[in-house]
Order: sequence, then C-alpha cells, then structure tokens
Amino acid sequence: MILLFSLLAWSQTPKPRPENPARLKVAVDPGHGGEDGGAVGPKGLREKDAALQIGENLKAALEAAGFEVLMTRAEDVLVPLWDRAKLANEAGADLFISLHLNAARARSAKGSEVYFLSLDQGDRDGAEVAAMENGGEGAAPASESVLSSILQDLAQKAYLQESERLAVNIQGQLNRLGGIKERGVKQAPFVVLRGAAMPAVLVEVAFISNRQEEVKLRDVAFQKKVAESMAMGVRRFFGANPSTARRKAAEQTK
Ligand SMILES: [Zn+2]
Repeated sequence: MILLFSLLAWSQTPKPRPENPARLKVAVDPGHGGEDGGAVGPKGLREKDAALQIGENLKAALEAAGFEVLMTRAEDVLVPLWDRAKLANEAGADLFISLHLNAARARSAKGSEVYFLSLDQGDRDGAEVAAMENGGEGAAPASESVLSSILQDLAQKAYLQESERLAVNIQGQLNRLGGIKERGVKQAPFVVLRGAAMPAVLVEVAFISNRQEEVKLRDVAFQKKVAESMAMGVRRFFGANPSTARRKAAEQTK
C-alpha cells in the first residue's frame, strides 16, 4: 500500500520545467562511447564514433525544425545506460532517441531497424540485438534505492503505445530513405529505454557489419540524410499525436 501511494505521488510529481518551455525537447542518445566502442565494421569503423556523428547531425536537424535538443553525450565518453534515461528525465525531455548501429553475423544484413521497449524478452532477433546493446548492464544500479529502482523500471511502461507510434513514424521515414517497404518496428528489452519517462525508441541506423553500409555510414551526406529522415519522423509523430503536444502546452500554462 505504501508502495502504491509512493507510486501515485511519484507519478504526479511535475517534471522539471524546461529552459525554454515554448519548445519541445528531444533527448538524443548516441550509443556507447569511451572504452565501450560498440560494434566494429569490416573496415574498422567504430559504432561509438558513427553514432556520435549521426547524433550531432540529428541535433542539427531537430534544432532546424524548432526542437530543443539534449545530448546524453557530446564527446567520446562512456555514460552508463541508466544515467542516459535519467539525464533525459531530469531535463524534462519529451522524447528519447537512442542511436546505434546494427551488427549481424550474416554480412548481407542491411537496413534500418527501429525498436521500442519490450518488457519481456521479445523475439529471438530482438533479444540478440538487445543483449548486444545492453552489454553487461541489467537492473538499475545498486546505488539507487529499491523503490527508485522499481520506479525507474516502470517509467517507460506508461509510454509504450506512444513509443510504438514514434518508432513507426521514424521507421517509415528511414524505409523511404532506404527504398525499403516491408520493414516494421520491433520490440526488445533494451536497458537504456527502461527508465525513460517519455516516448522512447532505439534506432539501429544501419548495419556496420555490412560493407556497403559501413561505407555509407562514413559518408557525411548520408549521415545528414539519415538524421533529416529521423527528424521528419519526430515531426510526423507530433503531428499525429497532438495529445502529446497539447499536454506539453497545458504543462506550460500551469
Ligand atoms: Zn550499439
């Protein structure tokens, strides 16, 4: 019962006010960093570097579209997975987008995949991708209290439907860019998404393990195009989900 009341109190705690309340804020989360290089391409491209470059491009594209952007990392440093969602929560972000590059044993695998959180193990492919991205990180850190760990674990639960719609919007734009029609969104148990108290997705932008895609990922023009596609997905999400934008507006007038 105490837990229930705590949950209620927590859910009613207002988000911190954004610096500029007139603009929607997007948290951009370039995966890996520092000693965690992520996957490596056949020609040596490191996931952590390409994810940061694409993240910088996404920041520019979103800012050009009028959004405020919070980067969970802006340089080559390792930020623990739980801290990434926490940074976004504390900044009062409205969306969370984690950026990664896919790797598969089948070198022919290519294209973009957009994921939202699964609270169970998801499909086999998804579970494998999640295991790769989660590294050794699982439950919330022991430094957090038990209650705060439970709350962090529940944070994304309330946003799963919106997260799916966000994933569909971004996947649609990336499919259009890649000339792919049939690829749908997927669900997997990504640790980085679990604590985000906002619609949240993880984008596997392309396969770093594929020779052609590794070349594209190094290309500044491609990085820009893919960032613009994702920014368009975000704009379409807000266009299709006026309730999110309205809720934000209501919060601002309080
Ligand atoms: Zn990754």
